[in-house]
Amino acid sequence: MENLTRSSVIIVGAGISGITAGKILAENGVNDIIILEAADKIGGRLMKEQFGGVTVELGAGWIAGVGGDQINPVWELAKQTGLQTYFSDYSHARFNIYDHNGKIFPSGIADETYKKAVDEAMQELKRQEANEGSENLISSEELSLSTEKTPIELAIDFILHDFEMAEVEPISTYVDFGEMEFLVADERGYDHLLYKMAESFLYTSEGEIFDNRLKLNKVVREVQHSRNGVLVTTEEGSLYEANYLILSTSIGVLQSDLISFKPSLPRWKTEAFGNIDIMVYTKIFLKFPYKFWPCGPNKEFFIYAHERRGYFTFWQHMENAYPGSNLLVVTLTNEESKRIEAQSDEETLREAMEVLRNMFGPDIPNATDIIVPRWWNNRFQCGSYSNYPIYVNRQLVHDIKAPVGRVFFTGEHTSEKFNGYVHGGYLSGIDTSKALLEEMRKEKERRSESQGFLLQPLIPLQGSSTMAPEDSASNLHKCDIPRQHFLGNCKLSLSEAIL
Ligand SMILES: Cc1cc2nc3c(=O)[nH]c(=O)nc-3n(C[C@H](O)[C@H](O)[C@H](O)COP(=O)(O)OP(=O)(O)OC[C@H]3O[C@@H](n4cnc5c(N)ncnc54)[C@H](O)[C@@H]3O)c2cc1C
Repeated sequence: MENLTRSSVIIVGAGISGITAGKILAENGVNDIIILEAADKIGGRLMKEQFGGVTVELGAGWIAGVGGDQINPVWELAKQTGLQTYFSDYSHARFNIYDHNGKIFPSGIADETYKKAVDEAMQELKRQEANEGSENLISSEELSLSTEKTPIELAIDFILHDFEMAEVEPISTYVDFGEMEFLVADERGYDHLLYKMAESFLYTSEGEIFDNRLKLNKVVREVQHSRNGVLVTTEEGSLYEANYLILSTSIGVLQSDLISFKPSLPRWKTEAFGNIDIMVYTKIFLKFPYKFWPCGPNKEFFIYAHERRGYFTFWQHMENAYPGSNLLVVTLTNEESKRIEAQSDEETLREAMEVLRNMFGPDIPNATDIIVPRWWNNRFQCGSYSNYPIYVNRQLVHDIKAPVGRVFFTGEHTSEKFNGYVHGGYLSGIDTSKALLEEMRKEKERRSESQGFLLQPLIPLQGSSTMAPEDSASNLHKCDIPRQHFLGNCKLSLSEAIL
């Protein structure tokens, strides 16, 4: 057939999970792979951009979970590659909450409001724990109480629920790897880790990948799968055939209709996709001619209290990471993210400037440039990262990552403990490729056992999703509280820090 490329394994997506999966396969002698990536570069949600004279990270920015007993594997990679990082200290954000007249709330009021919010969140969690046996899957956003709140209460509620729940519940990332977070502030970008990884199994020269097995600008639109193999069709009509497929696209893409499956994926699989929330998390960068914000010690993070929840609430200046850059970053989430994605950047700039003038007075200069990432409208992402319900059904955890015949699934959303994180993506790439290697080994065994028998079915197609008995014994388990942001996930940052 014309235009058909054959390989042993196709990997869809060249983010950290896809590249890691490729590396593990290569290390185990499976070099006959093709990586199909929709974008024009590798990295996925590790996405740098030149802005205001420095490299900014539009996607993942922090290595979260450092300094504990176990070493975060992404921290290890960063050390090996000499990635420039910068410790993020949130412990003073609570002293920097501004009202709309530019006054900073007294720390006593902030403390009190914060403690009340934590108490309420804990009550809510207890209530949910009591209902643990029910099938209801509750998103963390629903934890946010709907009673009338003052601007400072709303700001704290936003920080607590959209950024951080560590004070209320332990999060595996911080329990396992430590409570510190480091901002990547390296001109080469966070994705430099991926290029270094790619070097070990793809042909690269001077930081560029020239290997023909990596195909950029290849948008997969259709996956045909059977007990004999997979056939992938891309948007422009290229065909790729293989024995197995590893699909690393985000949960948002899996919930969308970008890729169609023939035959359709079984219901247990699509239902599992539908049960995972998608978080939208947007870092808006602003460039100024000079700085007008306080830059002394403990001033890096500041908070704006507004009557609309999440309205340009969380700010960071970049002077510590990039001195002299005159950059500010404000983080929006979910509905606010979607709202600003739908409007022009000029309008978003106008809103941001109004907020800044409320905090710092009318005489501050206009920003000279703005960058507004659109993760929600990016059809290769459809959101920023997965957000598991607090109490998840064990079956859901199983179903999210279980293969369907010859189609294997990987990506941060398949990581039970570390979903939503870069290290979740990395570890899922290892897990999935190991599961595939095991399947390949079994297939080889089956083939040699069945010599002489033609067309012995290899594996059941679309087998039902059944778990090992020990899995189903406790059908419900408490999942990590979804950490929903990348600033101050550590307990310290909540109990004493953010506020
Ligand atoms: C704004 C933002 C901030 C974040 N902050 C942090 C942070 O500070 N710390 C942290 O640890 N994590 C953070 N994360 C999460 C982290 O970036 C992700 O968990 C991780 O990078 C996901 O890697 P992945 O390989 O699972 O998916 P991806 O990186 O999304 O890789 C999937 C790849 O599939 C490609 N693709 C999609 N559809 C198709 C198709 N049809 N055909 C071919 N290719 C396709 C995509 O282009 C992409 O390259 C953040 C994410 C975002 C968006």
